[in-house]
Amino acid sequence: MGNYKCSSVGIIGSGIQGVCIGLSLIKKGIPVTIFDKNDPNNSNYKMASYGNAGHFSPYAILQFNRPDILYDVPKMLFSSYGPLALKWNYIPKMLPWIFKYVKNCNKTSMMHTAKYMNQILSLSLDAYEEIFKDINISGLVEKKGIFYIWTNQNLKSRNLEIDIRNKFGVKQKLMSKEQILDMEPNLNPVFDAGVYYEDSMHARDPHGILKKIFDLFMKSGGKFKNESVSEIKQISDNNTEITTHKNKYNFEKTVIASGVFSKKFSDQLDEKIPLDTERGYHVHFKNMENLISRPVIFLDRGFGMTPMNQGLRAVGTVELGGLKNPPSKKRIEYIINCAKELLPQLKTHDDEWLGFRPTLPDFLPVLGPSLKNKNIIYAFGHHHLGWTLGAITGKIISGIVAEENTNLDLIPYSSERFN
Ligand SMILES: Cc1cc2nc3c(=O)[nH]c(=O)nc-3n(C[C@H](O)[C@H](O)[C@H](O)COP(=O)(O)OP(=O)(O)OC[C@H]3O[C@@H](n4cnc5c(N)ncnc54)[C@H](O)[C@@H]3O)c2cc1C
Repeated sequence: MGNYKCSSVGIIGSGIQGVCIGLSLIKKGIPVTIFDKNDPNNSNYKMASYGNAGHFSPYAILQFNRPDILYDVPKMLFSSYGPLALKWNYIPKMLPWIFKYVKNCNKTSMMHTAKYMNQILSLSLDAYEEIFKDINISGLVEKKGIFYIWTNQNLKSRNLEIDIRNKFGVKQKLMSKEQILDMEPNLNPVFDAGVYYEDSMHARDPHGILKKIFDLFMKSGGKFKNESVSEIKQISDNNTEITTHKNKYNFEKTVIASGVFSKKFSDQLDEKIPLDTERGYHVHFKNMENLISRPVIFLDRGFGMTPMNQGLRAVGTVELGGLKNPPSKKRIEYIINCAKELLPQLKTHDDEWLGFRPTLPDFLPVLGPSLKNKNIIYAFGHHHLGWTLGAITGKIISGIVAEENTNLDLIPYSSERFN
């Protein structure tokens, strides 16, 4: 560890990345101010860090940049009842992202992503445990593992996933249909087998956890400005400027942790980072959370259910459609139908929610300094795994800000790969 201490840091975003980075910096004795146009303590806070499926998934090293998935895409798109959907009016705008994604759907890129996702995912739970030592998480986190189930239709893909996870030493337990039903007896037996990640855990209330971490950040001396940031700049070697709708602020360093909204700022810095969104949805079935004991994800359908304090949360699908299109009723119906297929007892639902996964076409986040402005640090693009990666991102980014040495290879997460 070097002797360098940064004098002040501004963070844009109080989602799970922003609060974990803020807390980690405050613990190092560095003064921090978080800016967010949405107050995480407000009951109307509805960002990705609120509505996700709540899985802590250190095993999920294999991402969507895979040759087998690319091969299945046309079939998925021409079925109105599939896990992938497009908002056609947005596709022309997303074409550059789609081309880059297709280029990354080869074995070499797939394995590169798996290796560097594994590097950070394997540290993700320990990083949360460090935070959980200081907050009361009773009733908010459950350690009962996570099930993925499937039919025999796509066994080639299932075998590929199992093999690659084995290669990286990920702990996984293959389960027969009967073994799964023993542990989750309410499930409709429309699946054939599955895998159990017994060491994984899930959030009973992601927003509740976010608020606890934010609270600890504030109690530890952190500052918060409920303001919308319009511009960031590096003024000189030790001075960055954040402009909000109310004021201008100066910090030695600025961290961009604004999820999918980070692209606006990297564009301002004249870096071409192809960040876009995979839209996802959730609904709640109130008072139905006791039908399952742990998250169950039905891989054939691209959807899952998590028992939460708000009810049974049915979550999923990937929709390519940008930030401005309205939510799709069809996607909501799809999730409801999938949930009822697995649990026919379900009846009425509440709380239809659309959220934005921040995704780069190679399915690695961007973590590290801006190429042209070294005092501005990126921390975004955590796609399907941003909830799992919050605490470890906090540690990595605070280490970068404080210019500490690390044993991690951080080059693969640099924005240099796009410029
Ligand atoms: C349907 C769905 C299910 C998911 N399930 C899981 C899961 O089970 N496990 C998992 O690991 N991950 C999951 N994810 C992914 C995860 O939720 C995200 O990757 C993660 O929440 C991103 O966190 P973040 O802090 O980067 O961004 P966000 O949570 O989006 O926070 C960004 C913050 O920046 C603020 N902001 C934006 N623009 C400005 C501005 N101009 N000025 C000030 N503030 C601004 C926003 O208000 C927001 O608070 C899921 C995502 C979705 C959509």
